[in-house]
Amino acid sequence: MSELLTCRRCGREQPPMPAPPLPGATGTEILASTCGDCWQEWEKMEVMVINELRLNFMEPSAQETLTRQMREFLGLSEAVDS
Ligand SMILES: [Zn+2]
Repeated sequence: MSELLTCRRCGREQPPMPAPPLPGATGTEILASTCGDCWQEWEKMEVMVINELRLNFMEPSAQETLTRQMREFLGLSEAVDS
């Protein structure tokens, strides 16, 4: 039985998503901080962000920009310098 998490974006207590939505540390962080509903909202928003900012994923900066937008949307803290 899984524990509830308090979603950083909507503030509701929700069961976590069944699996990290992204690979790596970011996926783990999102899994621990974001409910499935808010993740689905981001997936819709992501398309708009990509179109609005005309992100070109041939450029390395595009993924960084998208990640920054995603963290802002989901209410995740900025990546902390280690
Ligand atoms: Zn949420």
